[in-house]
Amino acid sequence: LGRPRYLLPAGMRYSTLKERASFYRREFDLQRAFAWVAPLARPVFAAVIGRHTKIFPRKFRGEASTTLLIDDYKGPEDLRRLLVELRPESVYYDRNVYGRRGPEGQELAFDLDPENTVCPIHGSLGDKMRVGQGLGFCELELNMVRAAAARLYDELARSFSEVRVVYSGRGYHVHVFDEGAFRLSRSDRRRLARELKERGYPIDVWVTEGSMRLIRLPYSLHAMVTRIVIPLKRDELESFDPISDARCLPLFLRP
Ligand SMILES: [Zn+2]
Repeated sequence: LGRPRYLLPAGMRYSTLKERASFYRREFDLQRAFAWVAPLARPVFAAVIGRHTKIFPRKFRGEASTTLLIDDYKGPEDLRRLLVELRPESVYYDRNVYGRRGPEGQELAFDLDPENTVCPIHGSLGDKMRVGQGLGFCELELNMVRAAAARLYDELARSFSEVRVVYSGRGYHVHVFDEGAFRLSRSDRRRLARELKERGYPIDVWVTEGSMRLIRLPYSLHAMVTRIVIPLKRDELESFDPISDARCLPLFLRP
């Protein structure tokens, strides 16, 4: 109590259903999205239509809050058709690598969200939840999480060679595509996640240890903030501003 209320940084807002449909019909870069998930052989996608925004097509009201797994698509264009129909608030992919007898490995990933930073103005996640702002964040938190993603990238780059960073719409994801990282055991992942957490990184341990195997799909639309999820080069991180960078603005938001 007594802390300022806030919602989202200036310029970020929910997308309408019409905007979501227009994005997946005209803008969604299928080729790059499929290139990203290529190491997974037969990628499984997932969509959430309206769990947080409560914005969903009427005909899907029964499934608006569930996570819909998309594993029976016939190819890239079929995925596009499905997304245009569902008009989801979020699209994910499954990091597991599936063999004949089930998962044989998992892509190593780190999820850094602004609400997990301790903001000098808004406080900790607990403080934010107490004022009903568990998913809200401010520009200060956005900058703190960007700096943390840069530090984590540099640290991982000392042990791995295929490290990539993605602006996830709200925060940042760091992905490791080294073959050895796919084969890490669950306890290795858990140890790594807890160690980084203890050292002050605002990472979601559930994602890194593998309990949450879904992660946001690069090139998809994050419809809670109306930003496109985009991979960044390491040297672009310092100056990246998701409020104004045209690369993450859908066409319908550009002047
Ligand atoms: Zn804040």
